[in-house]
Amino acid sequence: MQEALDRRTNHEYTALEISQLTDSHREAFRGHLKCLGCESTAHFRRETDSSPGRRGRIAHFYCRPHAANCSLIQRNADPWETNESDATVAEWVERNQTLIVRIQTPVESSEVNSEESEDADEGSRAGGGSASRTRRSTTISRGPQRLLEQLVHWPSFKTSAVRIRLPDPAQTEVPVHYAFVRFEDAQVALHTERWLGFWGIVRPFSFWAQGGSYYSNFGTENSSFRISIHRTHADAIVQRYRLGSIHDLVGHYLLLFDRARESASGRFTADVNSVHHVGFVRNTDQ
Ligand SMILES: [Zn+2]
Repeated sequence: MQEALDRRTNHEYTALEISQLTDSHREAFRGHLKCLGCESTAHFRRETDSSPGRRGRIAHFYCRPHAANCSLIQRNADPWETNESDATVAEWVERNQTLIVRIQTPVESSEVNSEESEDADEGSRAGGGSASRTRRSTTISRGPQRLLEQLVHWPSFKTSAVRIRLPDPAQTEVPVHYAFVRFEDAQVALHTERWLGFWGIVRPFSFWAQGGSYYSNFGTENSSFRISIHRTHADAIVQRYRLGSIHDLVGHYLLLFDRARESASGRFTADVNSVHHVGFVRNTDQ
C-alpha cells in the first residue's frame, strides 16, 4: 500500500515521502504509522531494484497482518499487498479465493507487449449466494512468472490448499499442492495426460539436433522426467530474461505449464509450449 496514517497526528504519509527521509528520521516513525483501513501497524519497506527474473518493487507499506475486517483489504480483494506471504496464503484459503493461471496468448502479447499484464487481477466475483453466508469467493489471475516467485519465495504456498484453475480447456481446479510438481518428483504414471505446473532447478541441457530441441534430464532411465525446449521457443526465453543463451537457465528455477507426455518410445517429457508458459527465477543460493 502507498499510504499510511500517523496515529499521533492523523497525518497521511505516502511511502514515497517516507522513502525520501534520512534513516534516522524514518526510524522516528517506527510503530507510529498505521493502515488506512484498520488499526494494524504499517511497516515501511524501501524500494528494490528489478533484476532478470525478479521484479523490483517501489517503496511501500505493509501490515502483518491487516485486521480481518480491514476495509482496505476488502476493497482490494488482493491481500498480496500485505507482503507477508504466509499470512496471505492463509487468507486465500480462509477467503476461498481461487488463483487463475493466466497464459498470455500471442495476440495479447503483441498488443500489450508487457509481461506486467499477466498480473492484472480480476475483480471480485460474487459466489455462493447462500443467504447464511456473506463470504464471497474471489479470483486472482497469476502468470507463470509470479506463480514461480510464490513457489520459490513463499514458504507455505507450494504445500497449501489454495484453489488454482489450471490452463487446460476444462479449466480444472485443484489445490495448489496438487497443481505443481517438482522436476525431481515427476513420475510418468502420475503426471501425464493432464495439465500441471512443473518446476525446479534446471539441469544442464543436451541438444538433440534431429528434434531441434534442448533437453534437461532428471535421470537416465527412459521413464525419467525431462523437460524439452524446442529451438523455436529458445530465443524468446533468452530475450525475455536477458540471458546469454538458453544454457544460462541451468542452475536456476524454471516453471512450465504443460500436459506432459509419454512418447512412443516411453520417454517422459514436459515441453515448453511458449515463453508465456514459463516463469524464471534466479537461484541466489548457488
Ligand atoms: Zn489494514
